[in-house]
Amino acid sequence: MDGAKPLVELEGATVRFGAFAALRGVDFRMYPGEVHSLMGENGAGKSTLIKAITGVLPLDEGALTLAGEHVSFDNPRAAQAAGISTVYQEVDLLGNVSVAENIWLGREPRRHGLIDNKAMRRQAAEVLDSLSLDIDPASILGSHSLAVQQLVAIARAISTDVRVLVLDEPTSSLDTDEVAELFRVIRDLKQRGVAILFVSHFLDQVYEICDRVTVLRDGALVGEYRTTDLLRIDLVQKMLGRDIADFAARERVLEPDLPPDPFLSARGVTNAPGISEADVDVAAGEVLGIAGLLGSGRTELSRALTGMDRPQAGVIRIENRDVRIDSPRRALQLGVVYSSENRRTEGLLPELSILENIVLAVQAQRGAMRRIPPTRQRELAISWIEALGIRPADPDRLVKTLSGGNQQKVMLARLLALSPRVLVLDEPTRGIDVGAKVEVQNLVGELADNGLAVMFISAELEEVLRVGDRVAVLREGRIAETVAADTLNADSLLALVAQPDLPEA
Ligand code: ADP
Ligand code: MG
Repeated sequence: MDGAKPLVELEGATVRFGAFAALRGVDFRMYPGEVHSLMGENGAGKSTLIKAITGVLPLDEGALTLAGEHVSFDNPRAAQAAGISTVYQEVDLLGNVSVAENIWLGREPRRHGLIDNKAMRRQAAEVLDSLSLDIDPASILGSHSLAVQQLVAIARAISTDVRVLVLDEPTSSLDTDEVAELFRVIRDLKQRGVAILFVSHFLDQVYEICDRVTVLRDGALVGEYRTTDLLRIDLVQKMLGRDIADFAARERVLEPDLPPDPFLSARGVTNAPGISEADVDVAAGEVLGIAGLLGSGRTELSRALTGMDRPQAGVIRIENRDVRIDSPRRALQLGVVYSSENRRTEGLLPELSILENIVLAVQAQRGAMRRIPPTRQRELAISWIEALGIRPADPDRLVKTLSGGNQQKVMLARLLALSPRVLVLDEPTRGIDVGAKVEVQNLVGELADNGLAVMFISAELEEVLRVGDRVAVLREGRIAETVAADTLNADSLLALVAQPDLPEA
């Protein structure tokens, strides 16, 4: 497709949030009939770039061109009218109405001013058919799996003369068969000349479906490559911006040193497409750091161990007994709790008070019939506010008024009120300022000193080394090795996490 004219082109695109430039003078092109991948570590600017081409964010500098013409979209609807559609990871359709209605939402065919239901179903059936999707247009959208709902969102997009389709992490919660079905549809759209932007942190998928890759780092363009010309190891280096060959060779192969008596021990835990045959041990009184690149399975591993996702294979033992952890409730009964990386969307209720947020989980565990008396709730909240140093120390303050670091402590307080034995913390310091970070890190160390088994997951290798007693290195969904933290430094750990398991491109 080289030589063809780009369908979408960004030139010198800059997007600022206040004084901070999330995108700095980036050039980006998409071609008709090609699948393009946008790669970069967390915070590299991928979502910002997508927002700049889909009418969600304006450009502060630079230009956007669609089929050779300068355009500027005031909102996503304007972009969609011009042929640029987006399918988000979280399906933004209506669960309680039919598939057909969702496909035509806001554009329903009408007869004598009324919605023509028959025409709507027939035309929906045609669109679904054209993608060889066997979905009943009359069925209620919410009765289908997330995968099917995403396919309906794509059907909706193509029913609008789509020329550019943006898929932002569409596969993160799909199983292998569902991914295959999605890829079949993507290939079909490619045949029709649609330009597709596919964002995924799974390298395997990028190499399977994408023709071209644009790499961003710290808001700037690193380069644009054809997938067939770019080795995986080179892609990873470009994302990280450091040359792995520069790192000192490892002095010795370290044997994984197992704790003598793990509290939780997992073997062969598999949950495609995230982790395969992962082995983990964590003992009471230690912090096990989990280090891995974006897409190595960090979050998937923690979800599989805490009942958030049901592992497809593997054995988990707690205190030497085989257990099945098939729901968060079961995990909690076994003393295993999980703090999600998305504390805003999955955890805290910002409109409620510190007190309400802290007692929420304990109350839920007891059930509605055994309400915790108000005075006891207050004692509980105050004791955790004191223990964790939550500021301001006012149980009635709304959580939305707290700093990120204090919000994170409220989240921890809620989990600790459950008297856990194992605490799995996914990115507990993301998005909080440096001072609060150190406080949370120290707190995690204290919790382990008090006998908890802690798993600490972070994208920041320095932090994993600082907090972890041992570090488990995740590569491509597997624990490649587990190493004592004091035998590593940031460079040697980076060399471990970035080491390719698969030398082929
Ligand atoms: P990616 O999608 O690659 O993880 P993003 O485009 O979401 O990265 O973010 C790029 C940078 O811009 C990050 O440092 C992020 O914190 C910052 N950022 C994103 N959105 C906003 C916003 N609304 N206000 C301030 N900063 C933002
Ligand atoms: Mg993003």
